[in-house]
Amino acid sequence: MPTLVYIDHQNGTPKKSSLEAATYAAQAGGNVTALVLGTADRAALESLGAYGVSRVWTVSKPEFDQFDAAAYAKVIAEAATAAGADLIVCSHNSTGKAFAPRLSARLKAGLVTGAIALPQQDGTAITVRKSVFSGKAFADYRLETPIKIISVNPNSLQVSKGSGTATVEEFATSVGTADFKVKVLETKKLSEKTPLPEAELVVSAGRGMKGPENWGLVEDLAAALGATTACSRPVADVGWRPHHEHVGQTGITIRPNLYIAIGISGAIQHLAGVNNSKVIVVINKDAEAPFFKVADYGIIGDAFDVLPAITEAVKKFKAEQH
Ligand SMILES: Cc1cc2nc3c(=O)[nH]c(=O)nc-3n(C[C@H](O)[C@H](O)[C@H](O)COP(=O)(O)OP(=O)(O)OC[C@H]3O[C@@H](n4cnc5c(N)ncnc54)[C@H](O)[C@@H]3O)c2cc1C
Repeated sequence: MPTLVYIDHQNGTPKKSSLEAATYAAQAGGNVTALVLGTADRAALESLGAYGVSRVWTVSKPEFDQFDAAAYAKVIAEAATAAGADLIVCSHNSTGKAFAPRLSARLKAGLVTGAIALPQQDGTAITVRKSVFSGKAFADYRLETPIKIISVNPNSLQVSKGSGTATVEEFATSVGTADFKVKVLETKKLSEKTPLPEAELVVSAGRGMKGPENWGLVEDLAAALGATTACSRPVADVGWRPHHEHVGQTGITIRPNLYIAIGISGAIQHLAGVNNSKVIVVINKDAEAPFFKVADYGIIGDAFDVLPAITEAVKKFKAEQH
């Protein structure tokens, strides 16, 4: 079925969450047109072909460099109509959360937010699975409308990269400056680190670190590796770390190449958000900690001894590479 995927980008390069959406669109629908709004890198857009996109439509008017959910929903609806798309896919990230419901109302299209699996086709209807009640259950939603919208939960699906390039052309839209009602006055970045949902290297710690005054050890290792920091929920609940670092069932779901868990017991609710990581390294002083059961590598030891040693080893290794 003709499918439109909305691709979010950062400084012109598609985000990991959007590559997941492109993979989903290619596997769920096929015949995929991608829509990219704002100034983007042409080579990066062509490379979307490797994720199953056959053509890319861009709107490079300068006003599209700032996000406005109403204006974005309008142009995505126009593109979906022009492409004859009966399936629209986007990521369930902050952008997708803001425009998808508006798009749904505009196109009278059924919407499932935060899908965690590919849809099941059933005649002209599809059934889409999402997780509900903080990950304690699954719900299957049946979409029967002619046009269907699915937003994909970040890090629920493995990005599939093949080969090929997509054609890139400018999409002529009626949406312009007058449709943009939101003015961004100031942007403050919380940190220069890669945001957790996009991070490929994550160093995470739990109650085993005893208190916020010891987090320097965790940050030193993260800095040596160029990793993003994360934490278990109780650590965020007591205010040792900010809530946007909390991973797990009730926090962020991640799928990095490397997840290092320090002083985290490995409760099922924590694992729910991290167990799709490619390589898991666990540092815990209790050999019976449940986390070791899902670890690729484990170090049984006191974090206060192990961390400085690993950080030094990483620094030394990196210095030798130069
Ligand atoms: C509905 C619900 C949702 C939840 N959602 C989440 C969620 O999204 N994310 C989440 O993380 N939790 C979540 N939880 C909480 C979860 O059940 C656990 O309580 C929590 O993950 C435990 O955090 P922790 O491992 O940091 O602490 P603890 O369980 O206290 O474990 C600390 C670990 O540190 C080790 N340790 C202690 N000292 C050292 C040292 N010096 N060196 C090395 N290791 C040491 C200990 O051996 C222990 O294994 C949820 C709970 C519920 C009921």
